Amino acid sequence: MCAVVGVHGTPDAAIWVRRALSALQHRGQESAGIAVADGSDIRVFKQVGLVSQALPESEILKLNGSIAIGHVRYSTAGKNRIEEAQPLLTECYHGMIAVVHNGNLIDQRGLKREVLMMNGTFQTTSDTEIALQMYAQTNKKTLDERLKRIGERMKAAFAMLFLTENQLAILQDPYGFRPLMIGQIGSATVIASESCAFTQLEQMSGQEADCIRDVLPGEIITVGQDGIKATSWMDIPRQRQRCIFEHVYFSRPDSITFGHRVQKVRRKLGQLLADVSKINADIVVPIPNSGIHAGIGYAEASGIPIEWALVRNQYIGRTFIDPLQSHRDNGVVEKLLPIVHLIEDKRVVLVDDSIVRGTTTRKIVRMVREVGKAREVHVAISCPLTISSCFYGIDTPRREELIASRMNVEEIRAQIGADSLTYNTLENLFAAVSPFAQEYCTSCYTNAHPLLDKFNLHTDNGYPERRHDGIQPHPTQG
Ligand code: 5GP
Ligand code: MG
Repeated sequence: MCAVVGVHGTPDAAIWVRRALSALQHRGQESAGIAVADGSDIRVFKQVGLVSQALPESEILKLNGSIAIGHVRYSTAGKNRIEEAQPLLTECYHGMIAVVHNGNLIDQRGLKREVLMMNGTFQTTSDTEIALQMYAQTNKKTLDERLKRIGERMKAAFAMLFLTENQLAILQDPYGFRPLMIGQIGSATVIASESCAFTQLEQMSGQEADCIRDVLPGEIITVGQDGIKATSWMDIPRQRQRCIFEHVYFSRPDSITFGHRVQKVRRKLGQLLADVSKINADIVVPIPNSGIHAGIGYAEASGIPIEWALVRNQYIGRTFIDPLQSHRDNGVVEKLLPIVHLIEDKRVVLVDDSIVRGTTTRKIVRMVREVGKAREVHVAISCPLTISSCFYGIDTPRREELIASRMNVEEIRAQIGADSLTYNTLENLFAAVSPFAQEYCTSCYTNAHPLLDKFNLHTDNGYPERRHDGIQPHPTQG
């Protein structure tokens, strides 16, 4: 869970990257950073926190250079946070090189061992450093060739941007797990995880933004003084594995991700969900923010009126993890409160995107019943049951912590205290992204992991080692 941005061809590239990162803040709130190249040197500025505080405009203005990359990071809480923040920068035989990464390398242990055997060293626990080390250890002549070499070795999942003293480069894994788009804004070339970044830059610069295209799986693109050069490094075409969760939850609704308007996909999921659920109710209440567009679709298809009966506190960013167990147990959802007179005595359908651990959902159901005085509380979820952790860049908890890996729908319904619980079907998920259904990774809903099988990466407990294993409540989307 991260966002990456690259800008080439404007004198204030760092300021552009900063602004783009702010539009991508929902993809990561732990740290933010920028690397800028001025033709002979690369400088990095990064800090923990949100873009607005971590990257003060006064500091970023000092970073001169016409090429820059940036990153916002979503990591688990813990030590060494600033050391793990990106961009990572190093100097090697080929010159200076900085990198930002969205994704998760599925074979971190094996790749690390390879680097160490070549006398490499690591200063962070981040899998991104593996890419830098491998880059430094290749003896290929050109930037493309070096990236091709490390791309082949890293397998998946990565959407990476590299910065040298005078070039920007993109490396996308052969399956295309994470979104990455190329845009043109005036004379500048911009690469970003989501197209909302282009809209933001259009606003800032007053120049029209063109979304040119998605970066293709297995593509290497270099952007330098002599223009844009794209090559593919895949020997054989592979089955695409676009992350379906980008549509369900992760991307912003105003983005076009994998060729689909995210808002439209969510609304369609809500419409299809209403057909599955067929609940008699008086009002549909979307759970903000993640349930909003599915809730709208649900109301449209069911004919049940929508009420915006849950108010989200906009000043609570990252939901505070309360250290007092007593506070956690009594089920307070600090960032949501009901508008009681809209709910009182009503049969309510709450619509949300996912149930992960089930703890938040249980608290909301209880609050709507007890504080909101609802007569009935039904829950409808726009995706299928989340039964597997993600190994490709989404920070879901360990499998045991996923409520749907332990319980069936009826047991989950009882656990969250709802009168009924409906999940969407996998078929509906595919229908919402048609005609590209076969090009999506749905491992979190099917627990099928073709890549782990292919590379024989299952370990004793069935899964490769994952560094990220905590889920933090999402501040901007909720
Ligand atoms: P739960 O009931 O599982 O505790 O929480 C469900 C809520 O978590 C949903 O509103 C959903 O939007 C949100 N959610 C789903 N996936 C993620 C994720 O990957 N990260 C975070 N922070 N929240 C998520
Ligand atoms: Mg939510």
